[in-house]
Amino acid sequence: MKNLNTCPYCNGIPKVKKTSIKFIENNIDKYYVECSDCGAATNQYDTFFPVSIYGSDFHKMSKKEAIETVSEQWNKCMFNAYTKLMHMSYKDKVIWQIRSLLTDAWYGAMVPVDSPEWKTAWKLRKVAEDRGLLVLQSKKQYDLGEVARTLFNDIQVKDIIFGYFEEVNNMNLNPDEIREWNLYFNNFIEGKEYVKPSIKDRISKMLIKIGM
Ligand SMILES: [Zn+2]
Repeated sequence: MKNLNTCPYCNGIPKVKKTSIKFIENNIDKYYVECSDCGAATNQYDTFFPVSIYGSDFHKMSKKEAIETVSEQWNKCMFNAYTKLMHMSYKDKVIWQIRSLLTDAWYGAMVPVDSPEWKTAWKLRKVAEDRGLLVLQSKKQYDLGEVARTLFNDIQVKDIIFGYFEEVNNMNLNPDEIREWNLYFNNFIEGKEYVKPSIKDRISKMLIKIGM
């Protein structure tokens, strides 16, 4: 078995782990590597369902192959989405959120119509289309991460995202308060200007509430 590099986030010791879930008659074993100190982890691979790794043919993995795959991914710093999200800057988290909402509106998703998520996703799609960043007729395969990165710098998009936080958190701010919060919010996600600690704390809690 390969040697695992120490954790790039905390220098902790990683371990190959196994978790089993019951599926109909079978126990499915899933393998992954996790840091014993901070919990950073790779994706999990089972030995039950066929998978395609790096474009290979779909096949069931052996235990050995699953362990080798997760070890290799750990050493290449390929972590699961949760780990990546935990270590992103707030700016990258917001870009990630824009991408995820755009994906809902562009490819369709099982999101309740009229939910804040759905409404926000469609507002973002509209801006992207107005700016010519997404063109339905083009039949192109878009990199929505790139589109989200471009949209992030659009002042209208920051307002939309802030409105989304406001709605999800039931803040009911008056227009003056919105202006003030919006300013702090922009400073906060850009990570470059001073934000009052109390407001900073509140914004972090708001972000956590929508899974950031
Ligand atoms: Zn760690």
